[in-house]
Amino acid sequence: MKALQLTAFKQPGELVEVDQPEPGPGEVLIRIGGAGACHSDLHLMHDFEPGMMPWNPPFTLGHENAGWVEALGAGVSGLEVGEAVAVYGPWGCGLCRRCALGMENYCERPDLTGAAVGGLGADGGMAPYMVVPAVRHVVPIGDLDPAEAAPLTDAGLTPYHAVKRALPLLTPGTTAVVIGVGGLGHMAVQMLRALSPATVIAVDQRPEALRLAESVGAHHGVVSDDEAAATIRDLSGGQGADVVLDCVGADATLALGAAASRVLGQLTIVGIAGGTLPMSFFSIPYEVSVATTYWGSLPELHEVLAMARSGIITPHVTRFDLDEAPSVYERLAAGEIEGRAVIVPTS
Ligand code: NAD
Ligand code: ZN
Ligand code: ZN
Repeated sequence: MKALQLTAFKQPGELVEVDQPEPGPGEVLIRIGGAGACHSDLHLMHDFEPGMMPWNPPFTLGHENAGWVEALGAGVSGLEVGEAVAVYGPWGCGLCRRCALGMENYCERPDLTGAAVGGLGADGGMAPYMVVPAVRHVVPIGDLDPAEAAPLTDAGLTPYHAVKRALPLLTPGTTAVVIGVGGLGHMAVQMLRALSPATVIAVDQRPEALRLAESVGAHHGVVSDDEAAATIRDLSGGQGADVVLDCVGADATLALGAAASRVLGQLTIVGIAGGTLPMSFFSIPYEVSVATTYWGSLPELHEVLAMARSGIITPHVTRFDLDEAPSVYERLAAGEIEGRAVIVPTS
């Protein structure tokens, strides 16, 4: 079968011919109905060096996946062949305390797994078929379309985790800012609107991205220019943002997040553009908490899928064939994708 593989860091993905996988004992074979093209893949292609990750290419890209159960390995039960499912992406050991809570994104025994997951070190979903190593990573999606469910497993799950931990701060009269309203950010906006009474401000450098953010519920769209921090302060009654989700993570967006934050606020770094935020007593308003977040938990994925099933959140998806995958990443890098591009390998 054809697969889009990363064959080396700092190289674009390549369409290659690989063997169709078979599920081993305990494994599940998925026929892929959608594999989202995440900006993290661009970091693999442009920024990451050998040695930065505990794993190396080659592997098939695609770490946000959904499709249908094609075959069950020996000993697997509880799923029907043909059933529509999403793949929980962060594969932990399943044994440690974090994994026991469903927080496999923060597995404490990466030595047991090598820390490789489908699309990031191990073969992912940019191919007609993908093997998932344990049935607990497979979540039935009911009547959701796999091409729409795929982005929910990362572009949905990652901001959901970041939004959920911020909710205690988002009481009536507060302000939440999402910087970078692409794949993750346009989902964050919808979740903030659905789950909090906060005023939601979207920030991006691209007017098309701001238009999408406003169409999915942002109260305001702000261009990320030199005036952005002052504009956010004005829009929040002079106080600044109680919560900032930086879905870019560059020097400029981190500086903007700090400048736009309110005393006692929360600045969450979701994007991995490699920027740094200098911290000193006077560089950030008093008691602003700064944290990174990585992906989300399995219970949170169930919650995200439930929100999508009830129509509270809807990913803005553009579908592409597998043959188009290399050019999809070029378009993503050029800022020409709105919402999420999803590869549909078996269309
Ligand atoms: P995307 O390309 O779909 O969206 C990024 C958006 O940010 C675009 O709309 C772009 O115009 C905007 N942007 C870029 N630079 C900007 C700037 N200086 N100011 C304002 N806006 C700017 O990307 P995505 O797939 O949503 O991913 C976003 C980031 O999150 C990436 O760095 C990705 O690697 C990272 N990511 C992190 C996790 C995690 O677990 N922490 C998970 C998935 C993705
Ligand atoms: Zn991702
Ligand atoms: Zn673990």
